[in-house]
Amino acid sequence: MKKELFNLSGKTALVTGANRGIGLAIAEGLAEYGADLAITARNKEQLENAKHKIESNTSQKVHTFSFDLENTEQIPRLFKDIISRTKQLNILVNCAGINRRSAAEDVETETWEQVIKVNLTAVFLLSQQFCRHRKKLGKSGKIINIGSLQCKAARPTTTAYAASKGGIAMLTKSLAVEWAKYKINVNAIGPGYIATDLTAKLKADKDFNKWVISKTPLERWGLPEDIAGTAVFLASSASDFVTGQIIYVDGGWLAAL
Ligand code: NDP
Repeated sequence: MKKELFNLSGKTALVTGANRGIGLAIAEGLAEYGADLAITARNKEQLENAKHKIESNTSQKVHTFSFDLENTEQIPRLFKDIISRTKQLNILVNCAGINRRSAAEDVETETWEQVIKVNLTAVFLLSQQFCRHRKKLGKSGKIINIGSLQCKAARPTTTAYAASKGGIAMLTKSLAVEWAKYKINVNAIGPGYIATDLTAKLKADKDFNKWVISKTPLERWGLPEDIAGTAVFLASSASDFVTGQIIYVDGGWLAAL
């Protein structure tokens, strides 16, 4: 296999939620394979730290954009700002996400809407902007959404999160089918339990930690960098004939009974 299959030189990727956790690991992976980056999140200091880390370790350029994805009506403006600085985007990674845990009967409408906006509506609106951009250029593109085991199965107390990630599974397939004519590949990654800020409380809970390890055939929590390789594959020409797929990077979780 030629090494060029995974080469991302000359490409620019927008990665949301890239100031820490899985998004940062994906951004680092894409940069290691030659992509320049636009990264977004709310926390400016963490964004600047991520930029510094990636630019010190690679020769790639990183542009930062502090933005709250709950402001869905501002997404066209954000996208315009990004293009005015990067000139073009070849790859979109929708990674930013939140979870708000409580009994389903107690979920406030405001909380429901917040989770759906960040995890699903913003993903659709950014994908729409990306498609229009690539269509205008008459060029192909790659969209990578970050799903979850909850694209497939549910757990108590995560109703809005599960609904949003179930939505990601069907949004991925729906856009893949519709935008194949523009040569825009749309795929998702479904991480298993990954040790990040999002799951820090769960990992600190002895019983939960034991349960995760017992349910994972590879007998450990995933690390953010475990997700990066699949993202590089889905961003590169190695995956040109792959679209509408959800690739689970879960240590074997979904394969086991
Ligand atoms: P983290 O909490 O570590 O990171 C979440 C990222 O999303 C941060 O960069 C955060 O930046 C950004 N973000 C959150 N809210 C907003 C917002 N309103 N506007 C803009 N950016 C926002 O979580 P992970 O790295 O674990 O999660 C990343 C993705 O992976 C999520 O989609 C999550 O659902 C998914 N995932 C994670 C799993 C895990 O076990 N960790 C398992 C399965 C899926 P900031 O707060 O500065 O805005």
